[in-house]
Amino acid sequence: MALKNDINRPEVASLSDYNAGLALDRFREVYGIDARAKLDHNESPLGPSPAAITAMRDAAAGRGRYPDATDSRLRHAIGGLVGTDPECVILGNGSEDLIGGIFRAVLRPGDRVVTLCPSFGLHEFGAQSCGAVVQKVPFNPDWSFPLCDMIAAARKDTRIVIFSSPSNPAGPAIRQDEFRQLLDGIDPQALIVFDEAYREYLSDDLDFNACAMMSDAERDWISLRTFSKAYGLAGARIGYGLCSDPALMRALRKTRNPFSVNALAAAGALAALQDDDHLRRNVEATRAERVRVAAILRSRGWDVAPSQANFLFFRTPGKAADLAQALRRRGVLIKAWQETPFTDWARVTIAAPDENDIFLSALSAATADMEGPAPHP
Ligand SMILES: *Cc1c(COP(=O)(O)O)cnc(C)c1O
Repeated sequence: MALKNDINRPEVASLSDYNAGLALDRFREVYGIDARAKLDHNESPLGPSPAAITAMRDAAAGRGRYPDATDSRLRHAIGGLVGTDPECVILGNGSEDLIGGIFRAVLRPGDRVVTLCPSFGLHEFGAQSCGAVVQKVPFNPDWSFPLCDMIAAARKDTRIVIFSSPSNPAGPAIRQDEFRQLLDGIDPQALIVFDEAYREYLSDDLDFNACAMMSDAERDWISLRTFSKAYGLAGARIGYGLCSDPALMRALRKTRNPFSVNALAAAGALAALQDDDHLRRNVEATRAERVRVAAILRSRGWDVAPSQANFLFFRTPGKAADLAQALRRRGVLIKAWQETPFTDWARVTIAAPDENDIFLSALSAATADMEGPAPHP
């Protein structure tokens, strides 16, 4: 089927579909088996805090009215928690919603956007749909941040510099001294979008206050955070941004849907913020498993990128899509990377120990199968 008329904007028509993976019930419908380890979406094995579930259930009762479009209570709670003016906090239907809103508020066709490679798909996709030209800077071969190349790419004529740290999909996090060099080197007129979706998983020695550093540098910036990962609320769809200025927050609010944050998600997030214990338990278990699984993979000869997040990025023997398919047949879901030149790399979520063990044994079986039967003597 084709459109009756050529109504697509060319920058939309030329986009490929976003690879969003399969939800659990869809997996069962499509493959006819239950997933034994769902490790393709970087979800939390613990799920949300029980307090968040109760709050969402309570909020569901009597939800005949529209929610507060200003998200006032949650913005104040977040402002209080991170020590920011609530007028600089914006909520979104997941932080993905905010990424799209930033691009729509800021980008003109032909603008330059600089990001990393490999990169989070939506950092590139949303910018392209606004007609921007995206320049992707490859990580250094040792997976350190490519500072010189990023600065060279973004020194001038750059509208947005956007990247995640810890990086999705690669895993490493930028260090404070590196971040300072970047702030000093890139176009002072560029907006920095610092995506901190995995910040809770950082080891303590790599945690620093990026917002304070960007403020000191007197730049326009936004830090993006989410309830989808460490808080275990991926299905509720809620994330937030900390903006350098209330004017940026207001601009983003105009390009976001007015009621994009639903009342249930807002109630769940508010309760989740207050359950420190749940967050800490999840993060500590994940950090320990991250070390254990990476060590096992490396001891078996796999090339694994260093990770500060709740996943590992590793090199696959052939095409990553083939390995992912072999694992899928065993009920194990991972994300085969589809971005050139990383199509022989895959990302696997660090989950609970039993799920990680299912992955590790399925990986051995799948690679043995892929090598085929040993030739007869
Ligand atoms: C998961 C993720 C997000 C968060 O998306 P939500 O819309 O909040 O669920 C944002 N950025 C990166 C890099 C991510 O991996």
